[in-house]
Amino acid sequence: MRSLDEFARGKLAALERAKLRRTPTVTAREGIYAERGGRRLLSFSCNDYLNLSQHPAIIKAAVEAAKRYGVGAGASRLVTGNHPLYDELEARLARLKGTEAACVFGSGYLANIGIIPALAGPGDLVLADELSHACIHAGAKLSGATVQRYRHRDVADAQALLAKHRAGYSRALIATDGVFSMDGDLAPLEELSQLAQRYDAWLLADDAHGLGVVGGGRGSSFASGRAEVPLQMGTLSKAAGAYGGYLCASRAVIDLMRTRARPFIYSTGLPPPVVAAAIAALDLIEREPDYVAEPLRKARLFTRALNLPEAQSAIVPVIVGDTEAALAAAQMLEDEGFLVVPIRPPTVPAGTARLRFAFTAQHPEAEIERLAGVVRSRVLGRQA
Ligand SMILES: *Cc1c(COP(=O)(O)O)cnc(C)c1O
Repeated sequence: MRSLDEFARGKLAALERAKLRRTPTVTAREGIYAERGGRRLLSFSCNDYLNLSQHPAIIKAAVEAAKRYGVGAGASRLVTGNHPLYDELEARLARLKGTEAACVFGSGYLANIGIIPALAGPGDLVLADELSHACIHAGAKLSGATVQRYRHRDVADAQALLAKHRAGYSRALIATDGVFSMDGDLAPLEELSQLAQRYDAWLLADDAHGLGVVGGGRGSSFASGRAEVPLQMGTLSKAAGAYGGYLCASRAVIDLMRTRARPFIYSTGLPPPVVAAAIAALDLIEREPDYVAEPLRKARLFTRALNLPEAQSAIVPVIVGDTEAALAAAQMLEDEGFLVVPIRPPTVPAGTARLRFAFTAQHPEAEIERLAGVVRSRVLGRQA
C-alpha cells in the first residue's frame, strides 16, 4: 500500500528532524557490559539491578523448568497455560509483600492495563502522579474513568483534586510509581495512603524499580514509614532479572483479577522457564540482604562524588535539558567506554532530556568514580 508506506516514512522523517527517532543498537549483553558498534561498553542503562538475568543459579532453574514443562505455556492460564510453578511464584510474592495473595501477569505493562480497568470505569475517578510510567496512564485511559494528573509527588495537589472532585464519582483510585522510573525518587506513599483512606480511594503503587532494591528488597511500600498500599504491583523483569508483572493484594482483589483483568484472560501464560527464574530470583532477594543493598550503595557513591541529592534508588538522573545536548553527552560517555542511553521526550517531559544512570550490584567502584569524574568535568562542568 503506497499510502501506508508514505504515512510511515513521513512520520519517521519528522521524528528524525526532531532527533526523536529511536532504534535498538545494542547487539549483545554480558553481565554489566553491553556491545554496541563492535565495542564493549560498561553499561549504566540496564535495569538488571542485581545482575540476576545472567546469574548461574537462576539460569539453572530456568533450564530445568524448560526441560520439565517446555518453553511455552501454550494457552492463557485460564485455559491450559497454568502450571504448578505459578502457585509457588504467587505464594512467594504475597509473602514478600505481606499480602494475602498475588497474581502474575504477562508483563508489568500488561498488569497495569489490566488492573486499573478491572477496578475503575466510567463514573469513577483515577488520580495519577504526572510522572507515573506510561502503562499507568494507559491503564487509566483504557478504564474509561475520569483521569486527573496531580503534580509530581505533590500530596497537597492530589488532596485538592480529591476535595474538589471525589464526591462526584463512585470509586476513586490513586496510582503512582513507587520508585519513579526516570527520576529515581520515591513516591510519598505514607502520606498518599493516609490521603487515600481519608477520601475512600484505593492506592496502587507500581514497584517496578523498587523490588529487590529498596525497603530491604521488599520494595517501595517498605522503604519509609508505614504505608498501607492495598494494590502493590510490579514487574519481575528488572531486579528479578526475569519477566512478568504481578499484583499483590487481598484475596478478594486477586480473585477478581483472575476473572476480570483482560490481559490475564486473553493473553498466553508466561513461559515456565521464566516463572522458574523469577522464583529463584525472589529466593535470592529474600536470602541475601547484603547483596540487595548494593545497587543503592553504588548509586550513592555516584551522587556523593558529584554532590547530587542522595540517591533514593538505583536510578540517578542528570538532567541535561534539550535532546541534542543529551545525545551529545551520551556520545561523549560512549567514547569514554560507558553506555548511558539518553532519555528524551516523550519518555520524559519536553525540555528535561537526561542521562539516566542505573547502578547495579556488580558495578566496580573504581569505574563509578571514573564515570563521576567524566560527568563532573564534561557534563556538569559545561552547565555551570
Ligand atoms: C518497566 C516498567 C513497567 C513495565 O514493566 P514490564 O514488565 O517491562 O512491562 C511498569 N512500570 C514501571 C514504573 C516501569 O518502570
